[in-house]
Amino acid sequence: MQKPDLRGIGMTSQRARDRLVEQLREMGIRSEIVLELIRGTPRHLFVDEALASRAYDNTALPIGHNQTISQPYIVARMTEALIETGIPGTVLEIGTGCGYQTAVLARLGIKVYTIERIEALIQRARERFRLLQLDNIVSRHGDGSLGWADQAPFDGILATAAPVGVPGMLRSQLGIGGRLILPVGRSGEQALLRIMRTPDGYEQQQLDWVSFVPMLEGTS
Ligand code: SAH
Repeated sequence: MQKPDLRGIGMTSQRARDRLVEQLREMGIRSEIVLELIRGTPRHLFVDEALASRAYDNTALPIGHNQTISQPYIVARMTEALIETGIPGTVLEIGTGCGYQTAVLARLGIKVYTIERIEALIQRARERFRLLQLDNIVSRHGDGSLGWADQAPFDGILATAAPVGVPGMLRSQLGIGGRLILPVGRSGEQALLRIMRTPDGYEQQQLDWVSFVPMLEGTS
């Protein structure tokens, strides 16, 4: 396999990445760790070559199968919410998609368990993880709304597809002190939530309004 072009050329260059990071800063992303992760993760390798020139625009882009790679601002916002009190040891991600958010988490040294319901997408994401030598990612083709019971509890859980309500299985697979970051609601009215597990139960807070693809049941 060809060596990946990690630095990029033209519109995928360092300048384009610096501009994106400045935009995220202006939009309120404060964590320097997160900003450096966005600067250093080659997003152009997670989209089709035809879209590579737009890889450092702050927008969602199509990745096939009716799915999208999340907007960089949203990836930054969710990552910031996940790590604000420390970097978790283990994280479960629901909705691997192209694997960009997964790669961002893995580059923090987190052991990431990721589940995707569309087989073709997880196959391609795995190739990217190999190419980038991200060997702290374990991936599975399956329905992530059920979580990953064998590997629970997790220090963090992050969903990049929106269920209509919070799946109880996901909440229950959080360890004490763990946090679940997920969008919830129907298309057009989704809230980004942070749910923390305490010794007594759960604490929930809304962080933002967002727009994600729906979390669907079953696999394809
Ligand atoms: N994390 C990606 C975003 C992918 S879009 C990024 O970095 O940009 C959301 C993904 O969630 C889609 O690929 C979709 O197929 C997947 N998905 C939806 N419902 C799911 C479910 N129940 N289990 C696992 N994956 C699911």
